[in-house]
Amino acid sequence: MEKITRKKIICGNWKMNHSHYEAVQTIQQLKATVSEEDLIKADVVIHPPFTSLRSLQTIFEAEKLGIFLGAQHCYFEKSGAFTGEISPEMLLKLHVTFVIVGHSERRTLFNQSDEIVNKTAKAISEAQMIPVICVGESQKIREAGEHFDFVASQVEAALSGFRIDTVKRIVLAYEPIWAIGTGNNATAEDAQDMCASIRKKVSELYDSDTANLVRIQYGGSVNEENAGSFCKKYDVDGLLVGGASLDGVKFGNVIKAVI
Ligand code: PEP
Repeated sequence: MEKITRKKIICGNWKMNHSHYEAVQTIQQLKATVSEEDLIKADVVIHPPFTSLRSLQTIFEAEKLGIFLGAQHCYFEKSGAFTGEISPEMLLKLHVTFVIVGHSERRTLFNQSDEIVNKTAKAISEAQMIPVICVGESQKIREAGEHFDFVASQVEAALSGFRIDTVKRIVLAYEPIWAIGTGNNATAEDAQDMCASIRKKVSELYDSDTANLVRIQYGGSVNEENAGSFCKKYDVDGLLVGGASLDGVKFGNVIKAVI
């Protein structure tokens, strides 16, 4: 496959943390840590809880910050009797650009199946936003040596029925479950091997030009110290950061380590 340069994408997944007041404070810290020029060098996305989307949209747009607004979840239907859910169109109206889907916490705690991940990713794309589709194996699967096959099957299921022009825009995030929130990050080599394997799978499903354009992140206990090592690897196009994104200074340092 021809080597090309892809713009890095660094996402901060706040999970169920930060009130809308704390969200604003965290963005002030981030602003004080990174410059406007820094934010041009990579795509930086904040995925706050739904309750902070409007506050952050207002700040990002009023201050013309080069930060994209992201969401952590949505439902695949457009509207209707789905108590507690949020539609892709509602997120789009708030100028959300990226939506995480298939995070292991949603797969495990909220029974999000491969089929739901696929339907949701399609609904996000149809609403003109970009899905950040998470895949990754458990410790047990890795110990059994089945991680490459397992992740490839998750990628295939998530992309089922996707048109080639849509696939080119998506983001895939390799997040080994054993590395999420544990402090036990994968090595940069492990991340590279899996991201390259994911790209190969996309190439088999579509073609090499398409696979070359898809951005593939690593996520799992990324911090200020290890962030830079992952993104030096050719197939690792950025990071999905949980814990270290909750602090604006730490997340700013993660960004600076990558760009
Ligand atoms: C995540 O939330 O997707 C994640 C990778 O979390 P952490 O960085 O805390 O491991």
